[in-house]
Amino acid sequence: MSKKRKHSKVIVTWRSIVLALVCIAWCVATWVASGIFAMQRIDLVVDRERNIAKSTAETIATNIYQRLSQVQSIPIVMALDPSVGSMLARFMTDNTLSPLQTHEKRDLWLADPELSAMTHRLNEIRSEIKLHTLFIVNAAGDCVAAGKPPEFPIFIGVNYSDRQYFLSAQQGKNGRQFAVGRTDNVSALFYSKPVLVSGQFIGAIVSRININNLTNFIPDKGIFITDENGVVVLAKDSDLLMKALPESAILKLPAEDVEKIYKNKTFETLSLSPWQPNGAVDVIKWNQSGYPYIYANFSVKDEPVTVHVVRDLKEILDIQNERILWAVLVSCAGILALLLVAGIVLYFRSISHHRQELLCLNKSLALQAHTDVLTGCANRRSFFELLETERQRGIRHAFPFSMLSLDIDHFKRINDYYGHPAGDQVLCHFVSIIEKTLRLTDRLGRMGGEEFNILLPQTVALDAALIAERIRAEVEKSPALYEQKTILFTVSIGVAQWRLAENETVDDFISRSDKALYEAKNCGRNQVKVDGGDTP
Ligand code: GH3
Ligand code: MG
Ligand code: MG
Repeated sequence: MSKKRKHSKVIVTWRSIVLALVCIAWCVATWVASGIFAMQRIDLVVDRERNIAKSTAETIATNIYQRLSQVQSIPIVMALDPSVGSMLARFMTDNTLSPLQTHEKRDLWLADPELSAMTHRLNEIRSEIKLHTLFIVNAAGDCVAAGKPPEFPIFIGVNYSDRQYFLSAQQGKNGRQFAVGRTDNVSALFYSKPVLVSGQFIGAIVSRININNLTNFIPDKGIFITDENGVVVLAKDSDLLMKALPESAILKLPAEDVEKIYKNKTFETLSLSPWQPNGAVDVIKWNQSGYPYIYANFSVKDEPVTVHVVRDLKEILDIQNERILWAVLVSCAGILALLLVAGIVLYFRSISHHRQELLCLNKSLALQAHTDVLTGCANRRSFFELLETERQRGIRHAFPFSMLSLDIDHFKRINDYYGHPAGDQVLCHFVSIIEKTLRLTDRLGRMGGEEFNILLPQTVALDAALIAERIRAEVEKSPALYEQKTILFTVSIGVAQWRLAENETVDDFISRSDKALYEAKNCGRNQVKVDGGDTP
């Protein structure tokens, strides 16, 4: 029993370990699965943001291109105008390239009706196309007529011969340049078109658009525009303005050239680097944020400007947090379900175990209810049942059967002399002698004390008397042994055969058998007596 208990304890321990291992495996699987799902979601978010960034950059670049094409086309169209050519040709013949002071030239040319008319015309075109300025320079680079906003100072007479757009025009090419305005310090793009007469350069037409005129094209803070040197010239976020892209051309140009263009010698670089050393090139660290950004750029066709789009991937943080929450919830739910199933299984197992125990107990109780505790033979109640069953069979099949009533002689004396435990030993020994003597179908019952009855199926009184005699003789010569003491004892036996004709009751049958027993006692004990009516 104790071994069994130990064994079951070991099983419980192993079950607990297996359950714990399954729980751990479940948690690990949940964590890995949630990681895979989270990675898939992150990839989708990155792809989506990448597409948005690319298309945004491309759309803005296209819009800017259209706007700048318009700005560029004005000098090209005007250069074909003969009145512009004849006006500029005048400066070549009038020898107006004389070294006059700027204000002298301004006063002179402002008073000139032809130049004033041209200035008026230029201003009309300028305001219609929404340019900042539209002006004409002569072959020396002096501004001779200019359309400009009213608040902007008059710059007729100012010399622009050092400007790149002028130098390009001087060489007969279309000029284009980003520069910070000489008069107003505002970043602007300049386009020039040379005016040639018989292949000779006589001046140029210049249109200017301020970079901030393009602000409408930039819908939010994560978009900025750089010029050909990688300097941010337009951004909604003013912190980005005049900063340079990492490793951009501006950082390698000589300081004096840089100052000419930007009126500034040094440039801070933008905080933009790859998010991971070997990761995707467009996933970047931006402004020391704790989450990555997606980056895309698109150069405006034929123009010295590039559109840059930076979009935050903050959603990745949400996905990672959701992944942790999801993993914890699913792990807990799984463990709870597992524990519930284990609990239900254990509950039903224990119920079935208890049912088995109850069945065993019931069996043993039933056995106890029908068995004599000391000798192990049938008890009084059980014997009466057997007797009644045999009687019914006797009635149905007209089978004869007999009964022996046995009483150990002077048993009280044995108890008194050897003690009660010795008496018990005699009773057990008596039963063992009888059981050796009887047939399998014969049944022995203890009726109380030292009194026993034997049911002998299919046996007539004569044969029963022979069996009784055999028992008596066997008992007489088989003493009991108790604590190395030999206890001799005898038994008196009464015999009776059941009376089928009278449909005799069990009680009547027993009382006849008992009567025969008393007769045996009265006749001196240690003998067999057959009921008077049954004696042949
Ligand atoms: P008789 O020959 O007339 O039958 O005399 P007896 O002494 O056998 O009969 P009596 O009825 O006077 O005594 C029976 C004794 O059996 C009395 C009782 O103490 C004893 N006895 C009854 N049951 C048990 C038992 O289970 N164990 C023991 N040791 N003694 C028992
Ligand atoms: Mg007695
Ligand atoms: Mg007796």
